[in-house]
Amino acid sequence: MIMAEDKLFGLRDPQGVRPLCIGRMGDRYCLASESCALDTIGAEFIRDVEPGEIVVIDEDGLHSRPGFTKTARSSCAFEYIYFARPDSTMDQLNVSESRRQMGIELARECPIEADIVIAVPDSGTASALGYATALGIPFGEGLIKNRYVGRTFIQPTQAMREVGVRLKLNANASVLKDKRVVMIDDSIVRGTTSCKLVDMVKKAGAKEVHFLISSPPVAYPCYYGIDTAEREKLIANQLDVEGIRKYIGADSLHYISEEALLRALGTDAVCLACFNGTYPIPISNLNRGKNDFEIQKC
Ligand code: SF4
Repeated sequence: MIMAEDKLFGLRDPQGVRPLCIGRMGDRYCLASESCALDTIGAEFIRDVEPGEIVVIDEDGLHSRPGFTKTARSSCAFEYIYFARPDSTMDQLNVSESRRQMGIELARECPIEADIVIAVPDSGTASALGYATALGIPFGEGLIKNRYVGRTFIQPTQAMREVGVRLKLNANASVLKDKRVVMIDDSIVRGTTSCKLVDMVKKAGAKEVHFLISSPPVAYPCYYGIDTAEREKLIANQLDVEGIRKYIGADSLHYISEEALLRALGTDAVCLACFNGTYPIPISNLNRGKNDFEIQKC
């Protein structure tokens, strides 16, 4: 978004990698990445900004301008897996519902005989509920979240991230003791958080911990605005699934397949580059700062 003295511009990239939507309050318009922000201020959702579109809000209202040359849509799949809030809907796809579908797909791919399904809150919760419901296994609050701390993977140092995990989550022994546990998380980035979570759940008395992940292995960095980690720090870039399982100490480990993820999202018009290294916008162009897109006059 760009603010001028008497105008607000909203621009969405040609492939719609990042989301942007339009809301209205009375005769005033607003823009937000996620629709849940509109709910917070009491604005009504109007529509998503189209990939490549430029919208202008001024004293005469809302205007749409053709902006960048349209190419194939590639919405960020990780927004649905982890980044976005569950109460957001982006490009007609509700985040919570898509996570629930990921859980159902995990149940199809990897049904486990377990006593309880738990989530790594919050982004694993809807998937865990989908998995538990699909297999008729009880869902329990095995990990309790401290709601006053932020996300751990974006803490700048490893030491801060490690303290962050303990501050952020605590195991609930009354739910876990003597149980065969399926634990569902959205992703494994460096692996250090997962390691601590498995250890925490085992120390709380779980007999078995089966770790299921609602994303494919994160093996490549994102160059489209998300700072996950450098390539060599991504555990899936260094180890195979069995190596990661041993590293985190789980009894079994399963990642959702790309095919199942696409079924859960109901579209293949998504970016999966951090999973498969196929970047929808060429990285060489990004590195050179080259701009192939023609901006038309407003
Ligand atoms: S590389 Fe990953 S995080 Fe980045 S836009 Fe693509 S799917 Fe999203």
